[in-house]
Amino acid sequence: MDDFLVTPKGELHVHFNGALPPEIVDRIIVENNSADRLNEINYHHSKLLVNKKSSGLIEYLKPWEFLRLIPINKVQLNTMIEAFFIAMAETNIKFVEIRHTVIHLARNCGITYLEALDWLLEGMTIYSCKYQIKAGLIITIGRGEQAMDHIKLAITNIPLSSSQNNIVGIDLAGDEDAELDNNIYNLFKKCKHDLGLGITIHAGETGNVDNIKKAITHFEADRIGHGTCAKNDNYVLEMLSKNQVCVEVCPLSNVMTGATNIAKGHSLQEFLNFEVPFVVCSDNPGIQETSLIDDYGYCNKEIIIPNFSKNMYEYQKQYTFIKGII
Ligand SMILES: [Zn+2]
Repeated sequence: MDDFLVTPKGELHVHFNGALPPEIVDRIIVENNSADRLNEINYHHSKLLVNKKSSGLIEYLKPWEFLRLIPINKVQLNTMIEAFFIAMAETNIKFVEIRHTVIHLARNCGITYLEALDWLLEGMTIYSCKYQIKAGLIITIGRGEQAMDHIKLAITNIPLSSSQNNIVGIDLAGDEDAELDNNIYNLFKKCKHDLGLGITIHAGETGNVDNIKKAITHFEADRIGHGTCAKNDNYVLEMLSKNQVCVEVCPLSNVMTGATNIAKGHSLQEFLNFEVPFVVCSDNPGIQETSLIDDYGYCNKEIIIPNFSKNMYEYQKQYTFIKGII
């Protein structure tokens, strides 16, 4: 019997704020705002959870209206980081790549980008040690008008960080239909070749298969976040397989965003057929009220792989951007 709770796991696609228990987020939001202000921003703790029948990605992302308001100081940040690691420990995760949009942290706390980076890395080091979970930071860049400014900030500040080795990757996320400046491709490649970071691109989640192609050809992605709509395109499946680009599959997130509907089912069987490497991940387990174990359960119903979680752990170790995981 494959006991998903007991078996060790790696987590390669999880967003920091989206993984936090909603009660911690609620406590901090209430602490930071007067009753009048909470009314004004129309806050209610139920809005921290994903509507399980959300009409699409835009609605799925609604909790970020509030999630992006915190933390506003270092004490809150450390409370959140500890809560994150406790949630990972409860799922028996042995190593985790934490995604975060560092620029939001800098703005909320009124500190520089470098200070935000160092606060985050310092907290990660403390709680990684306390809970015996290896951790690396993936800096998320939002698609959209400020993407260029944000990646430039990352590139300038990463080498100045006191814990540069714990920054393991760079990620592009957000509205896949947003226009991108063509110069951004070279900046991602600079991250890869000059700074030694892994590249992961959220692509093909909302039906745009061209974003998966571009992730491989223009961004030189090592991994793809979601890649759900690859299911319908043999050429892309072959591309992923030929280049051994690993797909970070987040099945329950895809059900909640409706991505699985767009792709007319999940792509796990196609990935097996075309020998596309994939790892199962949880995306935003806090706001989804799920854990990686639930995602394992979903996959295990859809495809039959003997020793599923043992094999998955080997893939997670093979494709993680964190060095020295054996
Ligand atoms: Zn994601």
